[in-house]
Amino acid sequence: MKEKLFSRLEEVYPDLVAFRRDLHMYPELSHTEVDTPEKVADFLTNLGLEVKTGVGGRGVVGTLKGSNPGKTVALRADFDALPIQDEKDVEYKSRVPGIMHACGHDLHTAGLLGVAKVLSENRETLAGNVVFIHQFAEEVIPGGAKFMIEDGCLDDVDVVYGAHVSSTDSLGAVGVKEGNAMANGDTFEIEISGKGGHAASPHLGIDPLIVGSQLLLNLQQIVSRQVDPIKSAVVSVTSFNGGEGFNVIPDKAKIKGTVRTFDDDVRDWIEESIEKIAVSTSNSFGASVKYNYVRGYPAVVNHPEETERVKKIAIDLFGERMVRDISPQMGMEDFAYYLKEVPGTFFWVGGAREEPSEVYPHHHPKFNVQEKAMMYIGKLFISTVLDYLSNKKSQGLRQKESSK
Ligand SMILES: [Zn+2]
Ligand SMILES: [Zn+2]
Repeated sequence: MKEKLFSRLEEVYPDLVAFRRDLHMYPELSHTEVDTPEKVADFLTNLGLEVKTGVGGRGVVGTLKGSNPGKTVALRADFDALPIQDEKDVEYKSRVPGIMHACGHDLHTAGLLGVAKVLSENRETLAGNVVFIHQFAEEVIPGGAKFMIEDGCLDDVDVVYGAHVSSTDSLGAVGVKEGNAMANGDTFEIEISGKGGHAASPHLGIDPLIVGSQLLLNLQQIVSRQVDPIKSAVVSVTSFNGGEGFNVIPDKAKIKGTVRTFDDDVRDWIEESIEKIAVSTSNSFGASVKYNYVRGYPAVVNHPEETERVKKIAIDLFGERMVRDISPQMGMEDFAYYLKEVPGTFFWVGGAREEPSEVYPHHHPKFNVQEKAMMYIGKLFISTVLDYLSNKKSQGLRQKESSK
């Protein structure tokens, strides 16, 4: 059964590459996607799926009902691009100035459509349903996931899986991580109001640059002195601005930064701690502060059972040496929201270019991956769906052939 689906996936691969390259040439930024969801919806409609558009804003959801009753599996791919100028030298490079698919979401989309095509052609063998979640705006907080969930994309879904290609891991290498996999990602802004004046008379003013410098150093104590060393956290100041002239003490200075954590109690603690330090440091100089802390995506917490399922399947398909348990990452992903609702797991699949000089990190102007990574993601998704539906069927006939 599985082999038949895999060979069909290989057959449609050229179409998927064409689809991916079309998205690559015409990328769309988060929250402004118009053509991309339309192309996705057309593809799914042609497969005979039930298709909903405008889900949560710009999302597309296709539902495949198997011929036999059973559980419902959701698979998710994101489709937004980034505000980056494409500097690759390939014939399918971005035709849109300043916008580029530099994270592989075009490949996620085409790969998931391939899975939808193959499974929809074999719906008579499915005991259960498959929901294809094509998500807009992963790259920009608050992200599309939250809105799509609010609009019902997980209604009746029992389990959800998502995959991300990696431009630096070798082709087909699979990374899984049970539990905390990606961090809570928040941002903060502190505006310091002092008292500007002539630089030659500093005693008459309150210099917000000195206050800010002291504050910046004081913030370093949070992770080094206040967070349990066994728990992880990052507080990074990424911007410190104020003043322009040579002889003017400015009125105001602004500090911006990001916070990454895994535990919610650490997250709460850091949010409060930054404020306390900002207020006390500024007060000691006679300056005042305005503080704004914005919560981004929550941590991606992978469910043990589903992570183990994907790991076993990956070992079975690609061999033990291609699969590894990876460390938690300080990056963030709005797949986290799906995992707050239903069990599931988010995993990584390598797609590094063969030529080392073509390997660049995600969000780099020369980012690219091997398109074959789609096949690895596709096979993992197909096998996981078959495995879940055959093991978890609540009613209906057991599949005649096992998925192995
Ligand atoms: Zn990205
Ligand atoms: Zn991404």
